[in-house]
Amino acid sequence: MNVFLYVIIFIMGTLFGSFYTLAVYRIPKKIDIIHTHSFCPNCGHKLGFWELIPVLSYIFLGAKCKKCNIKIRPRYFILEILSGFTFVLIAYCLKIDAYNLNFEKVLRFGFIALYLACIFIIAGIDKDERKIEKSVLYYGIMVSCIYIIYLCIMGHNTSIYRYVMYLVSFIMLLILDTEYQIRTAKQSYFIETLMLIFVMIVNSTEFVTLTSILVVFISILLTKMIYYLKNSLNKHKKEHKDLKQIHKFAYLLTIANVILLIGQMRLYY
Ligand SMILES: [Zn+2]
Repeated sequence: MNVFLYVIIFIMGTLFGSFYTLAVYRIPKKIDIIHTHSFCPNCGHKLGFWELIPVLSYIFLGAKCKKCNIKIRPRYFILEILSGFTFVLIAYCLKIDAYNLNFEKVLRFGFIALYLACIFIIAGIDKDERKIEKSVLYYGIMVSCIYIIYLCIMGHNTSIYRYVMYLVSFIMLLILDTEYQIRTAKQSYFIETLMLIFVMIVNSTEFVTLTSILVVFISILLTKMIYYLKNSLNKHKKEHKDLKQIHKFAYLLTIANVILLIGQMRLYY
């Protein structure tokens, strides 16, 4: 029975994973993520039901579009599987058990799934374009508000005032960001990263968020040190690739946050 439950959770994870990749591709291009039917970006071929099944469709189609034969990037396949495993790992850490279903744990799992949708999509877009999509941040803050209301209903009163303070800070940053955008006609990556940090604090606790930030800073520092060391040893060959990645702070922060959140759940549940 438990195996059956975990298979369902894995399938759910791959479906979410498929949605993340779709959202990461469509949101920056301003394509509707719900009403537009999935299509091949090369020939526009509308995908049939069987071509929409995560993981399996990639294998059965031989990693190619059925119509124009263009290669489908393995990243979709890998991300869907990774997302499936992340869901299974979270359910396992929360000790979700088919024989003893705990309503509170199932709800916590649901909130984490909604939260992951926010940070994974933000990370994906940041990795591709070094940009934080504000519409996804709004979604994240909406999930955070529902989570806070849930905490209120469940009687976790001690944290409510703190959470309300975070929400107020988020709104203040939003005003600041809007003002900056009107003045400069540009987005402020820094302010939007701070807004993302507040979403993270509400959904993954202060400890996990602050540790994630620390881990990312240390990784950036180490990467920079290795980069300069390599360049000082080998003056002709410059490696720019590593250095480009470390400026995608939201992307790095998401990876650290998810790993630490899973680690924390393993310890506390
Ligand atoms: Zn095609």
